[in-house]
Amino acid sequence: MDTRLEAIREQVLARNPGEKEFHQAVLEVFESLGPVLDKHPEFVDANVLQRLCEPERQIIFRVPWMDDAGNVQINRGFRVEFNSALGPYKGGLRFHPSVYLGIVKFLGFEQIFKNALTGMPIGGGKGGSDFDPRGKSDREVMRFCQSFMTELYRHIGEYTDVPAGDIGVGGREIGYLFGQYKRITNRYESGVLTGKGVGWGGSLVRPEATGFGTVMFTQEMLKTRGTSLDGQRVVVSGSGNVATFAIAKAQQFGAKVVACSDSSGYIVDENGIDVSLLRQIKEKERGRLKEYAVRRGASVSYVEGGSVWDVNASVALPCATQNEINTEAATGMVKNGLVAVAEGANMPSTSGAIAVFQEAGILFAPGKAANAGGVATSALEMQQNASRDAWTFEHTEARLANIMVGIHNRCAETAETYGSPGNYVVGANIAGFVKVADAMLAQGLI
Ligand code: NDP
Repeated sequence: MDTRLEAIREQVLARNPGEKEFHQAVLEVFESLGPVLDKHPEFVDANVLQRLCEPERQIIFRVPWMDDAGNVQINRGFRVEFNSALGPYKGGLRFHPSVYLGIVKFLGFEQIFKNALTGMPIGGGKGGSDFDPRGKSDREVMRFCQSFMTELYRHIGEYTDVPAGDIGVGGREIGYLFGQYKRITNRYESGVLTGKGVGWGGSLVRPEATGFGTVMFTQEMLKTRGTSLDGQRVVVSGSGNVATFAIAKAQQFGAKVVACSDSSGYIVDENGIDVSLLRQIKEKERGRLKEYAVRRGASVSYVEGGSVWDVNASVALPCATQNEINTEAATGMVKNGLVAVAEGANMPSTSGAIAVFQEAGILFAPGKAANAGGVATSALEMQQNASRDAWTFEHTEARLANIMVGIHNRCAETAETYGSPGNYVVGANIAGFVKVADAMLAQGLI
């Protein structure tokens, strides 16, 4: 790595001890930026990188709530407002027991570049809690969300900071959060949260957007090699929001999606995954993936534990969580005939895994480019809220498709300009960084 960047990275490690996911996200971006600093010494002179790595604001708060048995429970809430050079902070909320400051900061840091890549006027932020919605009743989830918003409301707003969903936060949670925000502020401020229900300010295509966008990006990458998703054998990890709609769109493009997973195990359905059954079990019944195999009978196998990446595929779409593909898994996937990987999740591949893919000449799309369709459609939701309008599914999906082609081309062209043709990691990091850095320079030392 460039020695100027190495020195800054060491400062980041020292200032943020123990936050290993954040360190990983910073390293992954820094590894791409050497050629930019040669071309733009003004970024070095103005210490843009040191400023970028320090969030503008970090909020940590207590979230007390009462469970159904009458016991008081305490969780920790976070909102990291990372960078507002391009617009209000924008990024989701994650509710998962693994959440701590290091995870929120890695996600917030990635979000800065991702949001810049979309070309929309949105800054970067992220938040969440170590609350685990799994196994909780609707009433418990509501009480938790109300308590969480009772603190968060003072930090957000349509021109300030606009949260959305992420792992463990879907339409139900956004509904409870929005209701409490409206009650406390006495404002029907639709643009304060995205991922709302379509009947009360949400956008069509927002639930589908991250998964759909990831697959649209994959299609664009495959085109550069004269091929397409038609006839490809696809494996997807996860079975939540992003995974489900990635499966649906891949199937629309003629691929056969044979496997997906949850944190307990994975299923293999050689006939192609039945998305409506999957949604029935996961979304409506809030059940486990194992149930899919039970209902489909002998033609579907369920493997408790283990890794979905053991199932051979030509296209892999990791859509569960960070660091779910390590070097060993990546090596096996390459041996099994892999052609392309697109990250629907944030940072699902370790840096070792990315190196394996790239050395093998696999098409590899990093999350900050491939999954940017979600936040881009959130920005479309904000546009509809601001104009008090509601667009059709077809119009919104066409906008999303256009945005994903734009992101793909921006990454490809930037990689080429900076001497790494075909390297989408370099393209995404540099294109996102330059846009934010230019804005920061123009706005002075703040
Ligand atoms: P969901 O909560 O809807 O689904 C998450 C899925 O991943 C579930 O199947 C879950 O299994 C699995 N999973 C979660 N944690 C782990 C773990 N530690 N090990 C194994 N499996 C796990 O979340 P989303 O689909 O919204 O998010 C998935 C990924 O996509 C995340 O990385 C998120 O940051 C990213 N993303 C999401 C966007 C969005 O619009 N929602 C936008 C951009 C990125 P189980 O049910 O067993 O926990």
